[in-house]
Amino acid sequence: MVIVMLGAPGTGKGTVASLLEEKVGIKQVSTGDIFRKNIKEQTELGKIAEEYISKGNLVPDDITIGIVKNRLEEDDVQSGIILDGFPRTVKQAEELDKILDEKGKKVDMVLNLTTPEEEIIERIVNRRVCSNQECKAVFNVTINPSKVEGICDKCGSELVQRKDDNVETVKTRIHNYMEQTNPLVKYYESKGILRTELVSKTTNHLGEDVANEVVADIKK
Ligand code: ADP
Ligand code: ZN
Repeated sequence: MVIVMLGAPGTGKGTVASLLEEKVGIKQVSTGDIFRKNIKEQTELGKIAEEYISKGNLVPDDITIGIVKNRLEEDDVQSGIILDGFPRTVKQAEELDKILDEKGKKVDMVLNLTTPEEEIIERIVNRRVCSNQECKAVFNVTINPSKVEGICDKCGSELVQRKDDNVETVKTRIHNYMEQTNPLVKYYESKGILRTELVSKTTNHLGEDVANEVVADIKK
């Protein structure tokens, strides 16, 4: 089963994807996490990616597609994958379809998360992530604080703020999302596999609820 997480930055794609990974038992693969790991290790890829990510821009398609193509060859994703943060352009979506088609697979479900823009900015600037690469738990100092300030509930490591989680970069990311990624809503809608969920404090509908609903539907 191939699930794609779609949605602007800060809508909770990563949170929902990791809950789905836990509940359904298929692997979450986040292109953002792959880039951050490479930046931390200052690999060649990391150095290139950092130039784009630090400005809030997308990493070029050819680089990103190559990474996902290779990742899709690995054993741990043959029975299923939750793509978190990929595709983010129509070109990436078309290439993904080709890659999967060659394997006799397809995108089965696209989970499109939407959140009002004011809430997105508030969420992102208050976001704190676990510094342990194996854990990567996500907290929020206002809506989902850790039990002990600055410390991960799951593994006890230090919580940090992502460098690109500042107001300026977030505005660029939202702008780029609207221009480059939002067209994917129509792309997947026309294939009849899009499922849109509003994640917002005004509706009290959060990542956990979305994950539970999706799991219930998958198990039907
Ligand atoms: P968020 O969804 O909160 O912005 P991600 O971890 O998904 O965070 O992505 C962080 C950054 O990594 C993006 O702003 C972008 O620069 C880069 N990135 C991640 N996925 C892709 C992709 N599929 N194509 C191009 N750039 C990407
Ligand atoms: Zn942790």
